[in-house]
Amino acid sequence: MQKIELNENQGRTPTGLACLDSILNGGLEHGVITEIFGEGGSGKTNICMQFAINNASLGKKVFYLDSEGFSIERFRQMSISRSDIYDNIALFRLNSLEDQELSLIKVQRLMEKVKSPGALIVDSFTEYFRLETGGDYQARVAGFQKQLGTILAMISEYHIPALVTNQIYQDIDKGQLQPFGGYVIDHSVKAIIRLEKKEGGLRKAIVEKHRSIEEGRSVVFAITAEGLECR
Ligand code: ATP
Ligand code: MG
Repeated sequence: MQKIELNENQGRTPTGLACLDSILNGGLEHGVITEIFGEGGSGKTNICMQFAINNASLGKKVFYLDSEGFSIERFRQMSISRSDIYDNIALFRLNSLEDQELSLIKVQRLMEKVKSPGALIVDSFTEYFRLETGGDYQARVAGFQKQLGTILAMISEYHIPALVTNQIYQDIDKGQLQPFGGYVIDHSVKAIIRLEKKEGGLRKAIVEKHRSIEEGRSVVFAITAEGLECR
């Protein structure tokens, strides 16, 4: 049991995209998993990279788990080749759902050893869950929940935010685009941001769920050669 002081500041870390930070009252909450979901190319990875760069520039250690194929070229464009921050980003490639589970446990141990842990990013969190359809579904769900537990344990211990991305699929019954994983991750994720593609190459970020912010707040931004720009 851990006593909570009501006058304590629970803390937020900026993503580095100013307008998004503004609607989130400062950024991503510490000790909380924030999920970004949206269709392919909507900007999920761009936001992860922006967040990593911003956090690393503050001298924090960022743990970045990638299951999609991290583009070093895009990262360099966005960090304007600030190689001085590269050491602040511990980047790991995930190869399977099992690898993801083991990597999270490894990261939890690594965090103990770093001076200033800053954030955990998993892009995408659901990719292997979606791809590995064989075997026992319930066992996969349980494994997934275990991963969420590992993430929650480390981010509450180190008072840092976690940012995970999620894909969408077409829900035939509801006729809507839904984030993957549904009930499996819904309860563990306390903040959800939906990304939409708009005309003229713009993107919209909408607060879908938050513990202390009304749903529906939104901002429009552009993905440019150097990064992200509020519009
Ligand atoms: P996925 O679900 O496929 O992983 P995503 O939501 O992570 O997609 P991102 O990789 O963040 O999407 O965004 C890709 C988009 O970023 C491209 O479609 C393109 O519009 C934009 N983009 C990438 N590099 C540049 C650049 N140098 N200049 C302008 N726009 C760029
Ligand atoms: Mg991506």
